[in-house]
Amino acid sequence: MAKADAPRELTGISAGPGVAAGPAFVFRPDILPTAAGRTTPELQVERLRAARTAAAAQTRRLRERAATLASENEAGVFDAQLLIIEDPDLAGRTAELLAAGLTAEDATATAIGDFARRLEALTDPYFVQRATDVRDVGRRLQFFLSGRRPPTLGALPWGCILLAQDLSPSEVVQLDPDCVAGIATVVGSPASHTAVFARAMGLPAVVGVGSELLNIRDGESIVLLAGAGRIVIDPDPETMRRALQAQADRLSLRQRERTWRLGQRVGAAGAGREETRTRDGRRVEVAANAGGPAEALAAAAEGAEGIGLLRSELLYLTGEAAPSEEEQYLAYRQAAEVLRPYPVIVRTVDLGGDKPVPYLPLGGEANPFMGFRGLRICLERRDLFRTQLRAILRASLHGNLEIMFPMVIGVDEVRQARGALEEAMASLEAEGMSFDRRIRVGLMIETPAAVMLAGDLAPLVDFFSLGTNDLTQYVLAVDRANAQVAHLYQPENPAVLRTIDMAVSAALAHGRWVGVCGEMASDLSLIPLLVGLGVNELSVAVPLVAEVRDRVQEIDYTRSAELARRALKCVTPGEVRRLLVEAGVSSPRSAPGGV
Ligand code: PEP
Ligand code: MG
Repeated sequence: MAKADAPRELTGISAGPGVAAGPAFVFRPDILPTAAGRTTPELQVERLRAARTAAAAQTRRLRERAATLASENEAGVFDAQLLIIEDPDLAGRTAELLAAGLTAEDATATAIGDFARRLEALTDPYFVQRATDVRDVGRRLQFFLSGRRPPTLGALPWGCILLAQDLSPSEVVQLDPDCVAGIATVVGSPASHTAVFARAMGLPAVVGVGSELLNIRDGESIVLLAGAGRIVIDPDPETMRRALQAQADRLSLRQRERTWRLGQRVGAAGAGREETRTRDGRRVEVAANAGGPAEALAAAAEGAEGIGLLRSELLYLTGEAAPSEEEQYLAYRQAAEVLRPYPVIVRTVDLGGDKPVPYLPLGGEANPFMGFRGLRICLERRDLFRTQLRAILRASLHGNLEIMFPMVIGVDEVRQARGALEEAMASLEAEGMSFDRRIRVGLMIETPAAVMLAGDLAPLVDFFSLGTNDLTQYVLAVDRANAQVAHLYQPENPAVLRTIDMAVSAALAHGRWVGVCGEMASDLSLIPLLVGLGVNELSVAVPLVAEVRDRVQEIDYTRSAELARRALKCVTPGEVRRLLVEAGVSSPRSAPGGV
């Protein structure tokens, strides 16, 4: 409800395009602290030095954030601010004032004020803008002098429209653009850095609204028509509905753009990264397992050479209904863009087993791990499967996406799954939509049946990925989630190792690439065995990527192959563990399950 004395509509100056709708949040920064009591000039010099160091460190962080949210170009504002913090003239003037007996606060206020006024007097917009930066730096120094952190705008109510007297560039950069819907200020100009950042961050903004802006109360509904410089207070339901729709469209676009920018940065950081190889030069890709785009981004930052398993189920587990094609397309596209040019293997949804969802009738199974799960569900619920396949195909244009089917037990299933993929391709073609027709297709080897048939399955696909978590449980008939039999869950069991060997040999014999995406790939003492058996890739939890890369680089493939050959001859898990200890690839304590 609008306050009686607040106008129904206010106008200001557009600082960028876009529509925002949401509750108002009025930002009232703390009054700056008063000057500390007079002490010795030496103490004041020391206080100012500490405040400068803290302000410089914060400015560097803001620079990083600005480069991520906006661009390198815009982040240059903070380079300029760093120069101001370290400016010798400003430091000299402040030192004189301190020597004259002023407190660090008063000396800073005076020196910063004089400096800013001199710049403003030059009237050139460039110098006027620099004056804003000088005042921004001054405010930051004052807060650090007070022993408090500068006011943070990092945690505002979700979806709010931020109203303020004014906002400095550093305050705008602290905003979370997924949290704040838009901004409006009493003063300000569309050419200011504040406005530049708002535009770069995709935030609709109106500046120079005048003091009536702050008559709007916290929580009142407003619509910001930023392109027209208008603010509608307590809008009618239809205006609100249209504004919310426009906002939703803008948000998904921005999310895509931002992920793309982040991906570029991460890609730039990763470019020229050395391929992971064993000491004697055998290439072993070290990829990561991820649940969605955010984890994919973290994986890229950790140095992963791809996503060996994108567990798409996480998209399905959170909602009341299965995710839409659009929702999935965005997620897969983001992951692909972030990792490009490295591959991202999307596993088609592996629901059931230990992953039930409310919208599928899965309950009541005595043995859910052997029940209606994985590909079995997809082949029956063709609607779900088709939506996912279309989303993956559409996203395939934006990077190096691959598709992988889970829980395969036979040739028929793979033929049917490939048939569904063909249908999805045909439907996209009929709609004139593009995708990568040569997308690589693989399957997970996680059932004994798939191992037995590996030689017949290999010609049907481009690659295998060994899901050793399930493979171990099905080969040993040990429920992976049952604590009572956990001591029997041993991937180093020779039965499991021989099974893996059969699958890898079949893949290699058919010239197929083979990876491992189960937890076994992260076990440092078992990595020499997997590498020795000939796998091309290890896909591990994101935080372990660097460690696994190091591990691969320190082992020798020829010696590992010999070790694997000997391990395959062992007849008990204990023998395998002793072999690993003797070979020096595992210590008694680090050996899997102990010796
Ligand atoms: C596996 O079974 O090894 C695997 C990677 O898949 P999940 O753990 O998701 O079943
Ligand atoms: Mg599995």
